[in-house]
Amino acid sequence: MTTPTDHEFDAVVVGAGAGGLFTAARLAKQGYRTLVLERLDKVGGRASTDDIDGFKVNNGAIVIEVGGITQQTCEEVGAEFEIREPKPPILYRIGGKDVDVTGGGWGFLLGKLSRQGAKLVKGIGAARNDSGLPEDELSTAEWVSKYTKNEGVHGIFRNMCASVFAVGSDELPARVFLTYFTRKSAFKRFGFHPEGTIGLWLALAQAIESHGGQIWLSSSVERITTDDGRVTGVEVVRDGRRIGVTAPVVVSDVGPAATNRLVGEEHLPEDYRTLVAKSDRPTSMITVNFASRERLVDVPGMLSFAKSRRLAYVANFTDICPEMAPEGWNLYVGTAVPKPATGDFDEAAETELLMQDLRDELPGFDDKARILSVNVTRDDWPPQRAVAGFDLPHDTPLTGLWNVGDAVKEYANGGTTACAETAQIVVDKITAAFPVA
Ligand SMILES: Cc1cc2nc3c(=O)[nH]c(=O)nc-3n(C[C@H](O)[C@H](O)[C@H](O)COP(=O)(O)OP(=O)(O)OC[C@H]3O[C@@H](n4cnc5c(N)ncnc54)[C@H](O)[C@@H]3O)c2cc1C
Repeated sequence: MTTPTDHEFDAVVVGAGAGGLFTAARLAKQGYRTLVLERLDKVGGRASTDDIDGFKVNNGAIVIEVGGITQQTCEEVGAEFEIREPKPPILYRIGGKDVDVTGGGWGFLLGKLSRQGAKLVKGIGAARNDSGLPEDELSTAEWVSKYTKNEGVHGIFRNMCASVFAVGSDELPARVFLTYFTRKSAFKRFGFHPEGTIGLWLALAQAIESHGGQIWLSSSVERITTDDGRVTGVEVVRDGRRIGVTAPVVVSDVGPAATNRLVGEEHLPEDYRTLVAKSDRPTSMITVNFASRERLVDVPGMLSFAKSRRLAYVANFTDICPEMAPEGWNLYVGTAVPKPATGDFDEAAETELLMQDLRDELPGFDDKARILSVNVTRDDWPPQRAVAGFDLPHDTPLTGLWNVGDAVKEYANGGTTACAETAQIVVDKITAAFPVA
């Protein structure tokens, strides 16, 4: 039974994932009495970190962009941004050699793989003008096929789509790929947090509390309450008690489909419900977290592959973040997107293809690697809640209700960077529509 109490806030944020925490930090900084509600017992959502026998194992996001909106938000709200950048950030395994393309860019990378490299570079250059961007219908793989059949080139593009967007190159519009690499952050500067990615969210949580905001963990929102087309608050279950919280503004970080369920479909117009149901297309990823006493890859950060069955990248955390493993151990993750990344796939077969790649690419993997966890992320816990290019709007038909996070990304953006951007846009709308006294 509902027992409403007098919990009153200016804004409630449902979910302490990246999108929710960036939003709450901005709101609290601007003087909104802000409450974050998170059903799990820790912050970070799909970008958090688990302790497995003293190893800091990320459950999702591993790299955080440096020099963009994420860092900028942390600086604005006073959250420590302790991201360490590997130098060089990424190497590419081409013909058995690990190649550093820093400074050489696309021309150098593609030139290593194919004589058609120069033509492709020209195609990428043309996309810098809007008129040079392909139609929405053309996939990235089809766009590459216009220039070359070279397997290595296709492998590089497939693995870039996997790493940045968590889909295959046949599932991502070329327009999205080219927009990202010609106009956005283009995966150039990034790094790891020494506590695991959760370290970033703990710093943001601290900033929220320092500005007077509250974060309730282990608190599940059961209902977003409405009255006559506007939100009035939420009902949350905490310590087995159902509590009514009132607020004129509710920001949801759980994705529009789950948000609609919390609101109750009967309170939403049919065209919006249909739009959300149609666009609910989460992607999938498979990750193997492993450790070894002996070094298994000789790169300071990420290693991507021109040829692999599924393996998109291996990340080596402990060169720059030795705190992530017990002394004497190296910590890695190997990541793949299954085929298909959207829709159903054979989990066992796809995981085995990733394991075969790890055995082929890392000599001694079977004897030297200690596997810490194998995770298939999909459906309700996806690497991206919407395929880039097919995102939903932040706005909802209800006054005072917005969505943030990776289901409502700006065009051609991805991951935690995209979440930071949604928070900035939504908070600007809130401050315009619901200024604090
Ligand atoms: C394997 C993998 C690798 C990735 N790699 C990267 C990477 O390297 N770099 C990068 O930038 N991005 C990466 N991503 C993507 C990134 O993790 C996500 O885009 C981002 O974390 C999504 O954040 P969010 O705020 O949208 O949602 P979420 O993280 O899903 O947050 C939503 C929160 O709401 C909570 N919640 C749900 N329902 C309720 C309820 N009813 N009441 C209260 N709380 C509720 C959930 O527990 C969760 O904590 C990766 C993702 C995965 C899975």
